Amino acid sequence: MRRPFIAGNWKMNTNRSSAVALAEGVAKQAAALDGVDLAICPPSCYLDAVGRAIAGSKVALGAQNMYHEKDGAFTGELSAAMLRDLGCKYVILGHSERRHILGETDAAINKKVHAALAAGLLPIVCVGELLSEREAGHTLTVIQTQFDGSLAGLSAEQMGKVVIAYEPVWAIGTGKVATPQQAEDVHLALRKIIAKRYNSSIADSVRLQYGGSVKPGNAAELLKQPDIDGALVGGASLKVDQFLGIVAGAL
Ligand code: PEP
Repeated sequence: MRRPFIAGNWKMNTNRSSAVALAEGVAKQAAALDGVDLAICPPSCYLDAVGRAIAGSKVALGAQNMYHEKDGAFTGELSAAMLRDLGCKYVILGHSERRHILGETDAAINKKVHAALAAGLLPIVCVGELLSEREAGHTLTVIQTQFDGSLAGLSAEQMGKVVIAYEPVWAIGTGKVATPQQAEDVHLALRKIIAKRYNSSIADSVRLQYGGSVKPGNAAELLKQPDIDGALVGGASLKVDQFLGIVAGAL
């Protein structure tokens, strides 16, 4: 049985006090919940403060990005060890905004995935097609290419530690959610890709999140699909009641 996993990606939002208040609110509401894993991923400058706010709670800390090198002259970057030092358990890698706005390639993401795992961080690796790619019928080719490139060279044991977030780019922050069937189709395809490269027991164990305009009103339908094990939530993770409303859909 895969345990549902809901993660909030706060992106470049909040300030110090609103980040701490949001984290405290989520941690407080999460105290009564069982049977679901939760994480929040604040901006890196607030990881320390948010980590303190959720210490000892059921909510784990995640980062939104990292660099693959261990240390050195990489101005503005953060290493996996630094994120561990701040208390992070997870790191989001290859988010579509990093791929499409900041030019991150599968090869760069792959280096980050290896560095994260080597440092004991659990990567949430994002894949997803553009609207033009879906309309051209290329969704599964794009997913296969991103999987092959971003997750190259992982042992079966390492693959078992990765969470994959399927986030169709056309659904992120647009209010246009994939239908449960559209999302399920890609999740099932991803599970088959994992089974083909590894085996069915690894494929059955890897958690696959859906991301893209998930809200309390559509979460339950998405999360009840057999191959959707959780959600990566952007906008709705910035409000305690909305984030927890989505979590309720997983229970
Ligand atoms: C995201 O950024 O990962 C995301 C899914 O955003 P939103 O929920 O706002 O579409």
